[in-house]
Amino acid sequence: MGEHRSEDRRRHHTENRERAIESRWLEHQSIEAKADPLNKTAGGPSRGLALCRGSFYIPGMNVPVLYRFPLRFIFLITVVVLSAIPIRAADKVVVLKAARLFDGKSKTLVQNGVVIVQGNKIVDAGSNLPAPPDAQVIDLGDTTLSPGFMDGHTHLTLDFSGNYNERRLKEVGLNVSEQAIAATNYARATVEAGFTTVRDLGSRFVGSKEFVDVALRNSINKGVIVGPRMLVATSGIGATGGHFDPTSGFRDMLFGREPDYSEGIADGPDAIRKAVRFEVKNGADVIKGAVSGGVLSLADEVDTPQLTPAEMAALVDESHRLRKKVAVHCHGDQAAKEAIAAGVDSIEHGSFMKPETLTLMKNKGTYLVPTLMATEWIMSKIDNYPPVLQEKAKAAAAARSDMFRNAVKMGIKISFGTDAAVYPHGQNAKEFKLMVDLGMQPIDALRSATATTAELFGIAQKTGTLEKGKFADVIAMPGDPTSDITASERVSFVMKEGKIIRNGPPSAPPVAVSENAELEIPAD
Ligand SMILES: [Zn+2]
Repeated sequence: MGEHRSEDRRRHHTENRERAIESRWLEHQSIEAKADPLNKTAGGPSRGLALCRGSFYIPGMNVPVLYRFPLRFIFLITVVVLSAIPIRAADKVVVLKAARLFDGKSKTLVQNGVVIVQGNKIVDAGSNLPAPPDAQVIDLGDTTLSPGFMDGHTHLTLDFSGNYNERRLKEVGLNVSEQAIAATNYARATVEAGFTTVRDLGSRFVGSKEFVDVALRNSINKGVIVGPRMLVATSGIGATGGHFDPTSGFRDMLFGREPDYSEGIADGPDAIRKAVRFEVKNGADVIKGAVSGGVLSLADEVDTPQLTPAEMAALVDESHRLRKKVAVHCHGDQAAKEAIAAGVDSIEHGSFMKPETLTLMKNKGTYLVPTLMATEWIMSKIDNYPPVLQEKAKAAAAARSDMFRNAVKMGIKISFGTDAAVYPHGQNAKEFKLMVDLGMQPIDALRSATATTAELFGIAQKTGTLEKGKFADVIAMPGDPTSDITASERVSFVMKEGKIIRNGPPSAPPVAVSENAELEIPAD
């Protein structure tokens, strides 16, 4: 076991280096990087830097004509040499075997599951498939193979899970770089828990304009650090004094000025459009808006609308023009109705939504991302929060169970999402049991975290199911998760794009992902 792990680590290291070379090479070639969230070089700032670093000569640069030819010649030579380097050795075929297999979309598991992987792709998946000769066979025994889980709502650069007041004080005292380093641990904990893709819906540091989520995504894509594939939202967009206003609850002008579009705070349709453009310019894959109040914000009511219908229309129109989906933080019923009518892609939380609002969602095909874990965690530690937040949390928790039960009965598209950061990173899978306890079939909860979420993300062509041609994002959990859904909390094997991230216990000693991480959530 120990030898295997050190061999795994060595291979990992080599593969990371290969991937870094490949990634740098792809940066030369990438033109449409930003249109495709799965492209390794996605991200404006990263691409801009890559061009400066890689192309030797930038049009408009003041280089005398005579010198341009040698520079171009060197560039050509470099290209030729790089193309001659075998970027990937002939990819070995790896066969994963387990007692059962869940393909991400079917209503039942199959027995004697097999996934055949070559390079970063699935070659075939199904029941009792023969292993090709010379393939490396990894027999995972009495486990269930599944596509890597996806979480539609995380904040991998943040951690709100401790004492609220202490956390606020600590955040304003810590250097943003230090918080970014901590985020690398959150990313590792998340992928090791079996979540191979996440949407990161808001990353902000009061008084800072750093895009830590973009940096985290790019570093994962380049193999610099280990983490899930990320679709990031940068700051998110909301109103002055609303859920996203980082200065709300602090003394007026404590930070010297009111936040503006560059921190996601915008009022009026034109300002909203500018904020969307600014976020996409800086690397956003998805746009997050706050259309109603929230639980963990001090100066708003949890269910009041915070954007006007005209502002929501601008948010959706501008995002969709730029081919970005729109996820909105929304607890209130009125705000949800207006957001669904405006054409948002997903409602996050949705605590107070009434049945007629759910009907509207059903007709429009809007996804619900319920984040049951967030209220569950807050309620279990209610004394950690200031009295004004306690009241809001209690109201949201009282409403959301009925809302979720109704959504399940009505067949609303439910994408798995947890609000990681409200609770300690890496415990995402506890959401499954909460969903099942509120009336969802275990197989539907699993589908919600795989094929359904991939559809919401717009990446279902590439991942989310165990099918030929998809990315080899494969996990294994013990036993049969359809008879015990908590098996999802004990993922023992994680492969992302054909690379083994975990086989058995976590590959590194568990990191202290946050304070109070050891506390258990009581059953609902
Ligand atoms: Zn959130």
